[in-house]
Amino acid sequence: MIRAITGATTVAAVIGAPVRHSLSPALHNAAFDAAGVDWVYVAFDVPHGEAVRALDAMRALGLGGLSVTMPHKEHVAHAVDELDPAAAALRSVNTVSRTADGSLRGSSTDGAGFVSSLTEAGVTVAGRRVAVLGAGGAARAVIDALARAGAADVAVVNRSVERAEEAAALAGPIGRVALVDAVADADLVVNATSVGMGADPAAGELPVDPAMLRAGQVVADLVYHPLETGLLAAARAAGATCVDGLGMLVHQAALQQHLWLGQLPDTEVMRSAALRELTSRSR
Ligand code: NAP
Repeated sequence: MIRAITGATTVAAVIGAPVRHSLSPALHNAAFDAAGVDWVYVAFDVPHGEAVRALDAMRALGLGGLSVTMPHKEHVAHAVDELDPAAAALRSVNTVSRTADGSLRGSSTDGAGFVSSLTEAGVTVAGRRVAVLGAGGAARAVIDALARAGAADVAVVNRSVERAEEAAALAGPIGRVALVDAVADADLVVNATSVGMGADPAAGELPVDPAMLRAGQVVADLVYHPLETGLLAAARAAGATCVDGLGMLVHQAALQQHLWLGQLPDTEVMRSAALRELTSRSR
């Protein structure tokens, strides 16, 4: 059933370029429907360099909330009135919300969303030795959140060492740059590279030698297309516990709704909507 949009409906949106293939409208609208709130979520393709004007528009149009994706995350971090601790550390914003006094507050829910996806899978972070593969935007959010959640050691493995150093520094004293051997010793292995994205899991390149994976480890892949990546298939075969990338996508969106509405949405509804969308696109 299509919801009636009236003059009282609150509009939320994602800004990015390109944004046409974003799953966010499907996730957020499904959760708004399930919660029975009078909100609607749309996507705006905002060209590079126009993020600050989009924030002005958010104020002028009274948008209830904004999701921010590439290439605007850093620009928005400089333009909002205040930042949450994760966004300040990362100098990157994926969520803008309005405070009671009308200020715009920038948050980063990606890392916390990742930790929530682990919690949902029954995996605790506190005290764990973690190997993070990758040092891009997603890896940085994950590294920051792992340190906040009490990881014992965060080893960052990346092709470009300079980026690895910058990313590892986000974890403070427990962060370090490491070689790929760190995977064998880790309790939790996180693929935050784009290796495996859009690849046939049977034929695709793996971000790590599967011989390093073992039972007792948790292996999480941030890649969610395909959902069962080559890495997760290899980890499953080795007896490791697997966490797919859709959990992070869903939980970062759920935390956005918590910031906008003050209530957490039904994450199962969001996950089903994302799966439906991914399935329809792969037909
Ligand atoms: P990014 O900033 O472009 O970073 C890409 C990372 O992958 C870099 O560390 C890069 O290494 C590494 N990389 C790329 N190709 C590689 C290769 N062939 N071999 C080894 N390393 C390689 O991208 P991002 O935004 O961090 O996203 C990374 C992945 O996470 C993407 O697949 C994205 O879809 C996924 N993601 C998922 C979620 C979610 O909610 N599940 C959220 C955000 C992102 P260098 O630094 O050496 O170039």
